[in-house]
Amino acid sequence: MTVVTDPLAAARHALLDQRRLLGPAELTTLAELPETRLPELCQLAHDVRLAWAGPQVEVEGILSVKTGGCPEDCHFCSQSSAFDTEVKATPFLDTTEVLEAARETKATGATEFCIVLAVRGPDEKTMDRILELVPLIESDTGMNVAVSAGILEGDQASRLAAGGVHRYNHNLETSRSFFPNVATTHSWDERWETCLDVKRAGMELCCGVLLGMGESDAQRIELIGQLQELQPQEVPLNFLNPRPGTPLQIRRPVGANEALKWIALFRLGLPPVILRYAGGREITLGDLQAAGLTAGINALIVGNYLTTLGRTADEDLDMLAELAMPVGALQAAW
Ligand code: SF4
Repeated sequence: MTVVTDPLAAARHALLDQRRLLGPAELTTLAELPETRLPELCQLAHDVRLAWAGPQVEVEGILSVKTGGCPEDCHFCSQSSAFDTEVKATPFLDTTEVLEAARETKATGATEFCIVLAVRGPDEKTMDRILELVPLIESDTGMNVAVSAGILEGDQASRLAAGGVHRYNHNLETSRSFFPNVATTHSWDERWETCLDVKRAGMELCCGVLLGMGESDAQRIELIGQLQELQPQEVPLNFLNPRPGTPLQIRRPVGANEALKWIALFRLGLPPVILRYAGGREITLGDLQAAGLTAGINALIVGNYLTTLGRTADEDLDMLAELAMPVGALQAAW
């Protein structure tokens, strides 16, 4: 019997020949590889992405329909009313504005359009607005509609599913053990419960993470394990963009090599997911945007992010054309 001792060769064998998930000890060994092996780590992540998820890249548009004034205190978030930031509370956008943005998004080739609300969770009035908008956007543009509206309670998840919401976004953000450092007004377990509710109701779960808040490598690996258990369809990978006025404004952005390493490790830990470049990629990766797409990323949010300026949709679409990566809707098969 051949014993594979090199950690990268062992991970390749596990993921591509045995088609099994890596455990925490294997991921830790990969995380400890010297930086000189980063290109090989990225190459393996790219091969795993192609083998498990195919060559397509999913493009999604995102629109903040209710910005700022959130009562929660997530320490990274400029939309929290607990901190004095440049983001001020604005009312719910009207239907015409939402449809206009959806049509612009559709023109980029996007297949998914996500409406995002800065709230703890949707109250009845908000539920009504969401349930009114979702079928309108869908019938007007033909795109799948995703919603991000915080913690769901009671029968809210099943009502959203029945109302046509294709995917619901609710981020874990970080591992259970690190979360108390990040927010005090709600718990990690409340987030976890909402994620389970979304799945039980039959919607696709989009469950994002935010790296660079001071969590350790072990806590990042803990988070990958928690996502393996949750099996979301999509994982938006955010890097902290330290916003003035928030408690995390003092943190340094994650460096480019570290960002690439963790993109690769999230792909290796979560081989079938739609791993989406989300916020903070400009400040961490700068000119190395394309490198992430050959290190495990297979989805993009185009245009402006929620409160910070992303790149233009054209820049991203040109990048995909240069990489000869086709755009299309994806589904994760766990
Ligand atoms: S719940 Fe969402 S919008 Fe509100 S402070 Fe936390 S991250 Fe920001």
